[in-house]
Amino acid sequence: MAEFSMHLNDDQLQIKDWIHQFAVEHIRPHAQEWDDREEFPWPIVQEASKIGLYGFEFLMNAMADPSGLTMPVAIEEIFWGDAGIGMAIMGSGLAAAGISGNGTPEQMIEWVPQCYGTPEDIKLGAFCVSEPDAGSDVSSLRTRAVYDEAKDEWVINGTKAWITNGGIANVHVVVAAVDPALKGRGQASFIVPPGTKGLSQGQKYQKHGIKASHTAEVVLDDVRVPGSCLLGGKEKLDAKLARYREGGASSGKQPAMATFEATRPAVGAQALGVARGAYEIALEYAKERVAFGKPIIMNQAIAFKLANMATQIEASRLLIWRAAWMARNGGFKNAEGSMSKYYASETAVRVTEEAIQILGGYGYTREYHVERMHRDAKIHTIFEGTSEIQQLVIARAISGLRIE
Ligand SMILES: Cc1cc2nc3c(=O)[nH]c(=O)nc-3n(C[C@H](O)[C@H](O)[C@H](O)COP(=O)(O)OP(=O)(O)OC[C@H]3O[C@@H](n4cnc5c(N)ncnc54)[C@H](O)[C@@H]3O)c2cc1C
Repeated sequence: MAEFSMHLNDDQLQIKDWIHQFAVEHIRPHAQEWDDREEFPWPIVQEASKIGLYGFEFLMNAMADPSGLTMPVAIEEIFWGDAGIGMAIMGSGLAAAGISGNGTPEQMIEWVPQCYGTPEDIKLGAFCVSEPDAGSDVSSLRTRAVYDEAKDEWVINGTKAWITNGGIANVHVVVAAVDPALKGRGQASFIVPPGTKGLSQGQKYQKHGIKASHTAEVVLDDVRVPGSCLLGGKEKLDAKLARYREGGASSGKQPAMATFEATRPAVGAQALGVARGAYEIALEYAKERVAFGKPIIMNQAIAFKLANMATQIEASRLLIWRAAWMARNGGFKNAEGSMSKYYASETAVRVTEEAIQILGGYGYTREYHVERMHRDAKIHTIFEGTSEIQQLVIARAISGLRIE
């Protein structure tokens, strides 16, 4: 077990500087353009792939770090650059996490690299859980997977909503109900390989923020995948289902929830990057903008806002680093992953709003980035578990009660 330390080692410091430089040169200057276009920023993701930031190897190296801190450090810098482009770079990671969390080592080796492709031929992954009638309530998924024993194939039918990279991904990881009576415990994850018949993109959503990230419906119409595409394998699934049928639906983890729990500090780190980006702009601006004959920061009303922003950003980082370390070194004890995601995302919304206030009229326009950052921050209180769901997880953990 690695000791928890706030000191980044030389490797981590190098990675942080390297990504920060990439964000300064290739992300921030193009952020507004891709926000306006509302399109997936292929050339920037390709650039990230060329330098080894977007890819299987980077993910594996970061995940192998025993302190767990490399990933949140990297993500904070990417999202400091821009959250929309950041999601375009990080979105495939959720599919990769779904595969690594539920698949066998062989499935991981086969499919995770296909979520990234190569610098010459970029590919994406999508993790498809949410549905029009089941977002927070993951246990109510209607997408069904039925086993066709004669052909050793799974037949999947359903509609997925709000899927990052949905329909444009090479690899779709789909969570579906195998035994609906068991609710979340009766679900399994499947790989839908590239080019599979019956999978199509539904509507592409127009969003409030992170507009450079592609979000769409995914329609599964009699999609047939080979038995080998069931993550974890049939034997394990059958044993698990038999256990749950005996013990009832209250025992054991749901595959989608297990993925989301592990990725919560990472989502917190995304929000942290947005918050820090806006705070730095506001601090600089407050020192330079003169009103009533002095820089506006010389008013406590402005300086105290910045003091609060700085404090909440530092507190977010502490929670995220602790949670990331725990996730890598024995797991969460008291919903620390949820605490980090909840606090950092609410902080990002507050900090970006205060940044607009500090910049006044300029803040409300598109010239200084904070307007976009405020729109981008909001998604973090919604996806991968809303703030209310995080509070629910925390409340249950601290009380030991099944709070509804
Ligand atoms: C841009 C974007 C990208 C996304 N990417 C993905 C993706 O890649 N893959 C994927 O599977 N999903 C993705 N999602 C879906 C996202 O995870 C869901 O939108 C989210 O989980 C909330 O679900 P919902 O929208 O159905 O809201 P609901 O669950 O209907 O919630 C509505 C409101 O009710 C509250 N609420 C619900 N239940 C409770 C409760 N028990 N107690 C208190 N309050 C409650 C919620 O907090 C929220 O405020 C994405 C969404 C967006 C917007």
